[in-house]
Amino acid sequence: MGTFRDEGVVLRTIKLGEADRIVTFVTPEHGKVRAVAKGIRRPKSKLVGRLEPLTHVTMMCWKGRELDVVTQAEVLDHFRGIRDDLDRMPAAFTMLETVDHLAVERQPMPALFKTLVGALRVLEERASPVLLGAFLLKALTLEGIGPVVASCASCDEDAPLVAFDAHSGGFLCRSCRSGQAVSAETVRLVRQILGGELRAALAAPPSRATAEVERLATSATEYHLDRRLRSAHLSSGFG
Ligand SMILES: [Zn+2]
Repeated sequence: MGTFRDEGVVLRTIKLGEADRIVTFVTPEHGKVRAVAKGIRRPKSKLVGRLEPLTHVTMMCWKGRELDVVTQAEVLDHFRGIRDDLDRMPAAFTMLETVDHLAVERQPMPALFKTLVGALRVLEERASPVLLGAFLLKALTLEGIGPVVASCASCDEDAPLVAFDAHSGGFLCRSCRSGQAVSAETVRLVRQILGGELRAALAAPPSRATAEVERLATSATEYHLDRRLRSAHLSSGFG
């Protein structure tokens, strides 16, 4: 069946039998990969400590019919700064959970992969209050299901936007309003995030607007995935 090599971020793992685990990765070239890590729960395994959720690795796999088999893994980043900080973990796990639901097996997704690794690197450096929201909005946009932010999602009017409704597809004007009320600052932040000014948006200090961005991004993601994000509601973050 052959082997392949790729980078990956470990999304989750489950125990298999006595000593193995099934590891789910997202990769740039092979999309979602589910692979058996044989013997990884034995202390002498060369894979020990290399395939925990949130680890960025390069790996080699045998291609299997249903599950692949990981034969080698080298750690590129453990993201210790995230792992050691209980306040940052929920955001990281919400990102992993979202990617797990968006990624498709054997379907390359280099842009989503790069966005995930980039967001984890930022999260490791500092806890920006808009990072999680920015990641979710960018991930949805890459998948072609991002919200309408330029004009009213319902009437397309270029009027001031005062609400956000995932069901309607984005921001709404005063006449069409439904869903969550949002401030002008929130609209501005979201436009920055999706308009190539991410760095400026990430510098925003915690405020009502940054909390609204996270809330609307979470609701848009849950609407599209048709499920609640488990990790998002563990967060005790601002707002
Ligand atoms: Zn409208």
